[in-house]
Amino acid sequence: MTTTVTVSTGAQFPIVGLGTWKSPPAKVTEAVKAAISAGYRHIDGAYLYQNEVEVGEGVQAMIKEGVVKREDLFIVSKLWCTFHEKSMVRQGCEKTLSDLKLDYLDLYLVHWPMGFKAGSELLPLDSAGETISDSTHFLETWEGMEELVDAGLVKAIGVSNFNKEQIEAILNKPGLKYKPANNQVECHPYLTQEKLISYCHSQGISVTAYSPLGSPARLWAKPEDPSLLEDPNIKAIAEKHKKTSAQVLIRFHIQRNVVVIPKSITPQRIQENFQVFDFELTEDEMKTILGFNRNWRVCPMQWSTKHKDYPFHAEF
Ligand code: NAP
Repeated sequence: MTTTVTVSTGAQFPIVGLGTWKSPPAKVTEAVKAAISAGYRHIDGAYLYQNEVEVGEGVQAMIKEGVVKREDLFIVSKLWCTFHEKSMVRQGCEKTLSDLKLDYLDLYLVHWPMGFKAGSELLPLDSAGETISDSTHFLETWEGMEELVDAGLVKAIGVSNFNKEQIEAILNKPGLKYKPANNQVECHPYLTQEKLISYCHSQGISVTAYSPLGSPARLWAKPEDPSLLEDPNIKAIAEKHKKTSAQVLIRFHIQRNVVVIPKSITPQRIQENFQVFDFELTEDEMKTILGFNRNWRVCPMQWSTKHKDYPFHAEF
């Protein structure tokens, strides 16, 4: 049994999930199997990650072996930015479902508030290296998402990388049928997101923290970037609890009632990242960790800063 967060639909959302961004197709099936064997019941994926067929193979294998039933699992995926036209939302979701070989998702998120030019290019760029927008606004995308719930393809819908104003725009939308159940955002001790989390929780919107370990393998990492896993202050707290830095970084979210999705393809780390229910950070340690905030982002989506719906110009 894993700890869960209750989402607005009443569903239980397992607080630790397996991330799958950059998990190579040839490795991710085994990673998903190792995670489910270790007790994970939540898998976080996306069309963008280009590995949903192999994620699905891991899920199906575990169901076939009788380790879990479909209803024990909480499977999350995301609508990519090139599918933002209302008429394309269903197509985006159905592609994910057929890749995963599932007939429903537990949660489907709008991956980013920005729409990009539809087509086979995931990141269509102009000659200046900026993403090419489409003509959509995310409020029309949201209507397409609501239709997925009514069609029974997804149990809940939510957003990712949305700022407060963008969430408010959905909540205030005339004729709104379903509120977002979740906002998945980058969150870790260098980007603690106190205001955004408090706003989302006040609206009954659960929050998921992505890149909880600082995404050390991101392609755009610079040598001068800070490293959460190497941070001596985090290490010192970990040593006190006889835990690893990764475990402290994951536990930090659990104690804020924030869902967390560390990614690994390494079986020993997958297990390690789930051994986080047998210790507790003190109130002082939580405060100390919150004090490490420096508003530093792993995923600034640097190609879209001029997009009309770019979320990170706002304070939160
Ligand atoms: P992350 O989970 O912060 O870090 C993953 C990296 O840390 C991998 O290189 C992994 O290596 C390594 N690692 C994992 N466990 C470790 C441990 N115990 N000790 C040392 N190193 C460890 O990064 P992330 O993948 O950016 O974020 C997690 C998930 O969030 C993603 O996979 C994705 O599902 C989601 N995400 C969503 C968005 C969004 O826009 N919504 C953006 C980014 C991420 P190995 O795999 O080699 O073990």
